[in-house]
Amino acid sequence: KGPDPDLVSIAERMATVKHKILVLSGKGGVGKSTFSAQLSFALAAKDFQVGLLDIDICGPSIPKMLGLEGQEIHQSNLGWSPIYVESNLGVMSIGFMLPNPDDAVIWRGPRKNGIIKQFLKDVYWGELDFLIVDAPPGTSDEHISIVQFLKDTGIDGAIIVTTPQQVSLIDVRKEVSFCKKVGLPVLGVVENMSGLCQPLTDFKFLSMNENGEQKDMTEWVITSLKEKVPEMMNLVASTEVFDSSAGGGAKMCKDMGVPFLGKVPLDPQLCKAAEEGRSCFEDRKCMASASVLRAIVKKL
Ligand code: ADP
Repeated sequence: KGPDPDLVSIAERMATVKHKILVLSGKGGVGKSTFSAQLSFALAAKDFQVGLLDIDICGPSIPKMLGLEGQEIHQSNLGWSPIYVESNLGVMSIGFMLPNPDDAVIWRGPRKNGIIKQFLKDVYWGELDFLIVDAPPGTSDEHISIVQFLKDTGIDGAIIVTTPQQVSLIDVRKEVSFCKKVGLPVLGVVENMSGLCQPLTDFKFLSMNENGEQKDMTEWVITSLKEKVPEMMNLVASTEVFDSSAGGGAKMCKDMGVPFLGKVPLDPQLCKAAEEGRSCFEDRKCMASASVLRAIVKKL
């Protein structure tokens, strides 16, 4: 029996890709796609040639987060062409193939694996420094497939995104154990939504009384501060949101012997950038999260 022709085609496509990184999470909603999107923007801003492949087939949010909603994939004689945000940042997602973004994709395992294989075989990325793969949450068929399909071509490893809550951290252990089982190196864990960070001037200041009445004091606070302590206008306020008494992701990583990459704060401006399909690195208001993300990119 000769080599599997699909795997041969995948190996040919991947021969021009230097680094492949999977982005995983135990649960949905922890910011995995947001991280994948901003990581791609950050690498592209450093002049790397970047491809972002979204295989979260049941909830493809990557097109929206890159500002590419409603785009369609074109085919050339070289294969399926990614959609380009910039000349050095191309994106491929099942989201581009759905006639209506509200359509639910209800596919069984084999069909999902089929499309993942097709993405790997048929997308023409050209020369890439990084291929970032945004995987679905959990450890299911899609994860086993992508690792199987890419293993012989060399995967650098996985980044696991979590939130600081214990329930989410428990799932990280499962992800790490999955990576160990399939021989995928863990590049590190990112703790997202870790503390709230916001420029002081974006806060609302309310006075509340026992009857549940609220009064908006924002204008008064901001004007008084501006007059009396103008330096305060430049401050970013930061606070813990979730209980961090157990030590959070950093401690868990130490216990499990995997790198801890950093804490990205819960940042309303980052959420806005993601909603609007923008890079947070160009937005001065996103400074807090952008600086953490930059530090994470340096560690890769
Ligand atoms: P997942 O891919 O894990 O399902 P998403 O990346 O879709 O999660 O994020 C879920 C929601 O949370 C999105 O609306 C996103 O904009 C928002 N979000 C993610 N990370 C942050 C953050 N650090 N600060 C603020 N909002 C965030």
